[in-house]
Order: sequence, then C-alpha cells, then structure tokens
Amino acid sequence: METDVIVIGAGAAGMMAAASASQRGRGVTLIDHSERLAEKIRISGGGRCNFTNTQTTAERYLSRNPHFCKSALAQYTAQDFIDLVNRYGIAWHEKKLGQLFCDKSAQDIIDLLQAECDLGGTVWRTGTAIQGITKTNTGFQVDTLQERWQCQSVIIATGGLSIPPIGATGFGYEIAKQFGLPITPLAAALVPLTFEPKDLFNELAGVSLDCDAHGGEGPNFRENVLFTHRGVSGPAILQISSYWRPGQEIALDLLPGRDAHALFEEAKRADTLLPNVLADWLPKRFAQAFCEAIVPIKPMKQYTVRELDSVAQRLHNWRVVPSGSQGYKKAEVTRGGVDTDALSSKTLMSKNVPGLFFVGEVVDVTGWLGGYNFQWAWSSGWVAGQYA
Ligand SMILES: Cc1cc2nc3c(=O)[nH]c(=O)nc-3n(C[C@H](O)[C@H](O)[C@H](O)COP(=O)(O)OP(=O)(O)OC[C@H]3O[C@@H](n4cnc5c(N)ncnc54)[C@H](O)[C@@H]3O)c2cc1C
Repeated sequence: METDVIVIGAGAAGMMAAASASQRGRGVTLIDHSERLAEKIRISGGGRCNFTNTQTTAERYLSRNPHFCKSALAQYTAQDFIDLVNRYGIAWHEKKLGQLFCDKSAQDIIDLLQAECDLGGTVWRTGTAIQGITKTNTGFQVDTLQERWQCQSVIIATGGLSIPPIGATGFGYEIAKQFGLPITPLAAALVPLTFEPKDLFNELAGVSLDCDAHGGEGPNFRENVLFTHRGVSGPAILQISSYWRPGQEIALDLLPGRDAHALFEEAKRADTLLPNVLADWLPKRFAQAFCEAIVPIKPMKQYTVRELDSVAQRLHNWRVVPSGSQGYKKAEVTRGGVDTDALSSKTLMSKNVPGLFFVGEVVDVTGWLGGYNFQWAWSSGWVAGQYA
C-alpha cells in the first residue's frame, strides 16, 4: 500500500502532525499500537488538559541545545493553538501562571485533533503494531502485522517512557538508533522525589507548603511542595526534578518571603515551645516534625542565639539529598531524547536521513510543568507536518 506520509504515534504530536500534513494535501496514514487515541491527553491536567501556556518561550524548556525549540515554537505558537481551540468553541480558563485548561474535559482536545485529522482525510490505523521501518530508494517501507506500506516520509511521534501501562514504549529511541541518530541520556522528569529514611515523611504525608525550591542547575520555583509517604511532590518539586541529578541535594526555603530570624527575635524570651512559635507560619504537624528532626524541643527562652540562628537558617535553606525519584511510573515526561544536533530545528527532519522526522516528547526538548509539553507537541508536530 502506498501513502505520502506515515505518522507513528497517535498522541498529541502525532495527531497534530497528521492534521498538518493531510490538510496540505498529503496522503497521511496515522498508526498507533494502542486502540485508544491520545491516552496521555485524556489523563492530563487532572482530566482537563493543561493544553498550553501563554508564557511559552524557549527558556521554559530543557534541552542540550536550548535554542533548538525556538523555530518550531515561533512557527506554531501558543496563540495559534488557542485560536484553534476557540474555532472549535471549546470553553477554557486560565488557572494560574498562564496555564490554560479545558473547562469541561480533555476529551474536547482529543476530539478537536481527531476532527482536524479527518478534515485532511487522514487514514487511521489504531491497534496496529509496527514490525519494522526500512529505507528504500524512494522513501521508506513500514511493515505492520497486517500491512506493508511504502511512503516518502515517516514522522516518529511515539513519545517518551513515562506511564508504560497506557502505551509508552522506547520505540522512537530504537528507530533513532537504527538510523544512526544519537540519543541524549534519558531520565524520568516532572516526577516526585523520594527520601530515605522515610520516618519523617510518614509523619508529614499530606502536608502541603508554599516553598521556594531549587535543584540542580535549574532556576528557583516558588510553588507548593506536598509531602508524601515516600518523599516530596507538588508543583515545585516536579519542576525541580527535571533539573535534579541523582546524588545532588535540593534546597527548600520553607518560609519564602518571610524572615525566621525576625520571628525568633520577637519570641526569644517566651516560654512557648519552638514548634508552637513556628506554627504561626507553618502547618502545626510540619513545625513539630521539622523541629524534632533538627533540634531538641524546648521553650524559646532556653535556646541560645546560635541555636535559633541555625534553625532559622535551616528553615530558609533546608538542604536534603533525595534518594531517587518515583521513576517512569509516576513521571509526567521523559527528559532527554533524540539529540537535537541530528535534527533540523526548522523542519524537525533528520539531517542525515531525508524524510525521517521526530516530533514531541521523543525529542530532547522537555518543557516545564504548566502546558509547555503539549505546546511543544503542537508546535513540533505542526512544523513536521508542513515539511513531510
Ligand atoms: C499524568 C500526566 C499528565 C500530564 N499533563 C500534562 C498537561 O496537563 N500539560 C502538558 O503540557 N503536558 C502534560 N503531560 C505531558 C504530555 O502528556 C506529554 O508531554 C505529551 O503527551 C507528549 O506528546 P507526544 O505526542 O510526544 O507523546 P504521547 O502523547 O505520549 O503519544 C505517543 C503515542 O505513541 C504511541 N506509541 C508508543 N509506542 C508505540 C509503538 N511502538 N508503536 C505505535 N505507537 C506507539 C502511544 O500509544 C501514544 O499514543 C502529562 C503527562 C502525564 C503522564
């Protein structure tokens, strides 16, 4: 069977690529091994899909080449996707920090993408396992269990490794290797971090704090930290997890924008126990467990100035070394991927294998939490569809 373009992976980037190419008049077949389309969109944003971010810029992405994503993000912008969502009459709202969510359901976005693919006449092959891709004189041969396809271009949009039960595989990385494209180191990202020993965290599970968090080479993120039975999660931790490397410490300011030294100065002659003083500013359960972990509990007036200074210092700069992360089972994305050096930033096509494109999460471009990963999927998918 013959077609112009085969897109592999009917997720966010793949559906956008198929829509973009087919609406240009290209014959497109979209193949996915799952029966259900775009499972990650369905579960995203708590079922409401944080589909883009109005503050999208290249600075919100991690990549070995931080400039690589600029061209695609400029060719298909957050506003372009918002316009598309508006054309379909999908109701949405901004939650915070430029993050846009569907009012009703993530299914609205899946339906939109499916309709955009159908508009161009995309041929669907779901529940279809790929057996192999080979280069031919005129393009590629793609073998599935049921069919043999000849095509001019192949767009790989099979995503990353997170959440294997809903269809994630390393297929895109295998194809990259087969065609000689390098892969940068892969790791779970936007993922909760774990700690040993777990005792402190068992007591704190469920506590949430506004923190200023820092990890690895990344910037600071001021957002909530949520304590879990195994360690820490919440938006601030997910953000820094993308920058964190095993063995590195993370730093948390547990009282951002406040001055623990000044609080202690005021209360230093009181009979009140230290955790009770801190409970003015922190959840009581957290204040108790944190103090017990770092200092003997006494009335304020029994501490020396040095002891209080040290507690204040720890509150503003609590440094801990996570034992690891919760891995791909819980990660929102995979950091790393097909090395951007091997791809054209303008077209997403492989520099050495004409006609072979990589888009979305399989590429070494990883967005911050907040709709940036879907925007990369839309932008890269749309661009590849224009050139495939
Ligand atoms: C729980 C969760 C919530 C998230 N929430 C958000 C959010 O609100 N906002 C945001 O921006 N990002 C969010 N993300 C990240 C976002 O979902 C991904 O970055 C995005 O889906 C990547 O798009 P993609 O098309 O590259 O890959 P995917 O959407 O993962 O699609 C890949 C497709 O390829 C298919 N596939 C895989 N292997 C094969 C194979 N061997 N053969 C054929 N097909 C194959 C899969 O079945 C899948 O359909 C979330 C992720 C998770 C896990």
